[in-house]
Amino acid sequence: MRKGALPRELDLRGLAAREASISGVAAITDLGRLMSAGVGLVAPASAAFEFRRDEEGRYIVEAQITAEVVLECQRCLGEMTQVLETRTVMACIWDDEDAAQLPSSYEPLIVQETANLSDIVEEELLLAIPASPMHAEDCITDAQRMALGNEEGCIESEGRKESPFAVLAKLKS
Ligand SMILES: [Zn+2]
Repeated sequence: MRKGALPRELDLRGLAAREASISGVAAITDLGRLMSAGVGLVAPASAAFEFRRDEEGRYIVEAQITAEVVLECQRCLGEMTQVLETRTVMACIWDDEDAAQLPSSYEPLIVQETANLSDIVEEELLLAIPASPMHAEDCITDAQRMALGNEEGCIESEGRKESPFAVLAKLKS
């Protein structure tokens, strides 16, 4: 089944009052902040939103987002893909001050009269992207290691177990 683009300029509180559900996809062109962060998408991100009110009358937005992103491996600088899956329960608030009143089970979602669901998708994906993405397997070649002028950075060196981050720190130094 082909899903359509996520609708824009939605009244999230109105949708919560009606207990609506919306699902759709967001293409990379809808996700400008991902693009400027150098992140690509293998296919449009897919998202499912459910809106409801809780016992306290808050306007709740539950979002499940799945995307396969293209990132730059921080070890070999080659492309790598990673599947990101997020599920977040958010409560609509008008400004930062209201965030303090929220129970910790809710993420604050600052929205005015209307919001674009693709902005939420963008935010959630940016939060889900690892700070130092790396291929699962040792992807850097000896030649590349030499080129980095760091022969000691060799990951297989005898019996020493190093975390990828320690290795990365060495490569960077
Ligand atoms: Zn790599």
